[in-house]
Amino acid sequence: MLLLRHPFSLLAICLLVLVGVLRSYSPPAPLGADVPNVVFSAVRAEAILRELLAENLPHVSGSPQNAMVRDRIVAQLESFGYQPEIQSRYHCNPMFGSCSPVENIIAVKPGEAGEGAVLLTAHYDSGWVAPGAADDGAGTAAILEIARMAAEFPSFENDIVFLITDSEENGLIGADAFAEHHPLFPGVKAVINLEARGVTGPSGLFETGEGNRRVIRMFADSVERPYGSSLVYEIYKRMPNDTDYTVYKRKGVMGVNFAFAQGVAVYHSAIDDLDHLDMGSLQHHGDNAWGMTKAFAERNLDSVVSGEDGGYIDVFGKWLVHYTVSITHGLALILGVWVMLAIGLAFRKVFRFRQLRWGLVAVPFLLLTIALGGYLLSWPLGHWPDLHPLEHPSPWVGRLALLLMVALAGYTTLKLFTGKVSACVWLVIAWALVFILAMRLTSFMPTASHIALLPLALFALGSIVDLFRKKSAAPLLVASVLGFAGASFISFYHFFMLDVVMNFDQSLFRAISLWMMALVVMPMLLAFVKDRELTWQPARWLLVAVLGACLVHLFIPGYSSERPRDMTLMYSEVEGEASGYIVLESIFKRHDRKYAEGHSFEMQELNSGQLGTVQRPVREVDSIGLPGIRIEELSAAMEGDGFSREFDISVPGDGQFLRLAIPKTAGLEKAWVNGELALDNSLESKHKRWVDTLQVMYPEDGKVKVELLSSSPDAFTMAAVTWHELPGILIAPFMGNWPDDARPYLYGPRAEKIQEYEFGAIQAVAVPP
Ligand SMILES: [Zn+2]
Repeated sequence: MLLLRHPFSLLAICLLVLVGVLRSYSPPAPLGADVPNVVFSAVRAEAILRELLAENLPHVSGSPQNAMVRDRIVAQLESFGYQPEIQSRYHCNPMFGSCSPVENIIAVKPGEAGEGAVLLTAHYDSGWVAPGAADDGAGTAAILEIARMAAEFPSFENDIVFLITDSEENGLIGADAFAEHHPLFPGVKAVINLEARGVTGPSGLFETGEGNRRVIRMFADSVERPYGSSLVYEIYKRMPNDTDYTVYKRKGVMGVNFAFAQGVAVYHSAIDDLDHLDMGSLQHHGDNAWGMTKAFAERNLDSVVSGEDGGYIDVFGKWLVHYTVSITHGLALILGVWVMLAIGLAFRKVFRFRQLRWGLVAVPFLLLTIALGGYLLSWPLGHWPDLHPLEHPSPWVGRLALLLMVALAGYTTLKLFTGKVSACVWLVIAWALVFILAMRLTSFMPTASHIALLPLALFALGSIVDLFRKKSAAPLLVASVLGFAGASFISFYHFFMLDVVMNFDQSLFRAISLWMMALVVMPMLLAFVKDRELTWQPARWLLVAVLGACLVHLFIPGYSSERPRDMTLMYSEVEGEASGYIVLESIFKRHDRKYAEGHSFEMQELNSGQLGTVQRPVREVDSIGLPGIRIEELSAAMEGDGFSREFDISVPGDGQFLRLAIPKTAGLEKAWVNGELALDNSLESKHKRWVDTLQVMYPEDGKVKVELLSSSPDAFTMAAVTWHELPGILIAPFMGNWPDDARPYLYGPRAEKIQEYEFGAIQAVAVPP
């Protein structure tokens, strides 16, 4: 049958695959400043970044701090021999209803042919509270290091445009300004964008343009350490996340988008600084970007877009398996039929239909037990401990609990069904399921079909070897072992992939990612235990081990000073109300309860400033009477078949931020800020809005002219929020016992003023005859 001399050899294969997969999820070692000038060095890039972020302060676009960073980038480019240009304008991105000053930095290395340009881009602005060393200082520094290297090269075929954008964080405003207004943009035929959603981990290819078949092949050929999977791309497409590349992609420009995504607790937090940035991630960013830059720079850019997409997955960060989607259907059919035939031929004499019935009970039993185990473990591993929603700082014990649970489910299945289900029956059902999965994937998500195709292909390959071992007592042993290696690879790859998109409260999905491995290993185990007497003892030990791991996991803190929880002290008041509030803001709603109780914060419904409410822990204080905006209505009239309102807003002196919220009942179609189209609701976006918002940063001279075009003449209430400096004295009493594992996140400390303003109905005026 499928007799292995030792089932521990399966464990060894499993561990080898695990080590390989872990290599995928770790960045390369950073290269020192001693490597040749034409090799990317993270140490040199870090030195550049250290200079850019000398003060280690946030530098939101429009701020004086950001102007300093801008000047330093310009100086760097000049020192490499470029003549950088600054694209300067006050711009709005109508996809997000967001406006801010923009100072994009552009440098060009002209090509020989000059027929198309490669755009290498990252953004230099940061969020409100993060110094932005990873997001997107790493991308910026990588591009500067590449600009330095490129300057040492003779001209490439194509132009290379280095674009360090501004105001990405506020809604891709700099990228939109470049695409809408810069004369270089129409020549851009390929984009390389560098981003971060954490501070460590490998830099992976997570997005491309439509028709990426050729670009995927270029990626496979041009980078040392490819990391990425087309399933991640499918997931990203469905997530409400965007980067600068979104702007160019919507205009049909081909591109590759790289990001590192581990250490997500630090992302957009006050400690996204140089001390927390992984130099390996920076190295990987640079290697990827430089590899792709050279590839695009020497290629006819008119031929980079294919008629179809490719699927891909990296193997151990070493090779990239990639395929054209159009072949997946045929390939699945051929491989599936082959595998089923191989199994049928090898076992035609021992196959018993009677056992098939037990098999149809046993296989679902195993899969459901694993799912149930994952579901149950989500309490001790996820719901009970206090955890970040996305990533655990010390995940190994939790992972071990899940792996042991799968072993327990496997052993229980063996114990219950040995003698009733033969190895060959399980083999038939297991690989039939993989075959069915392959066929489903090729029709519904063809770029993810490698999930089933890869194990099928390895099994098929092994079956050829088995053909030459005809007399063996274990037909299809090589096929089974190779198929198992493929299945473990797929299982582990996705088990770790889920690490940075969900925490252990979603253990059900983590457990399901191990299905394939468990399913495929069983025939070999069934064959091994066939004539052995199994006892319940190992199951008991496994259960104790699972519970023990859960217990240990419960004692591991879910936050640390290196992977902090998000917690910000801010102040909020609503105009006309006598009291204001010190708010303990946690965007993920996971504030430190002990701290909150210690300072007598109590949960309360607050005005969210977006015509709704939000639950936050607060301390009520006397209103400090922040200055507010003044609105002067200029006109309200019917215009075509819509209704237009114009008004002027004066923003108080220190106002750096203004957000208007307009209810959906107003039927807003478009909005203009200072004559610029600021919001266009007809544009398709990944974001679903419950309320329309207009965000204006650093308004020029504190004056904003707004025009709204809506489909309804009805009256409505608009909410306006302005941000002001938070008086230190307000929060000083609350700084005692500030938890070491908590950091301000996203918007950071601020004093917020909320005002509401009524617009009357527009009277439809009868046109005089
Ligand atoms: Zn970013």
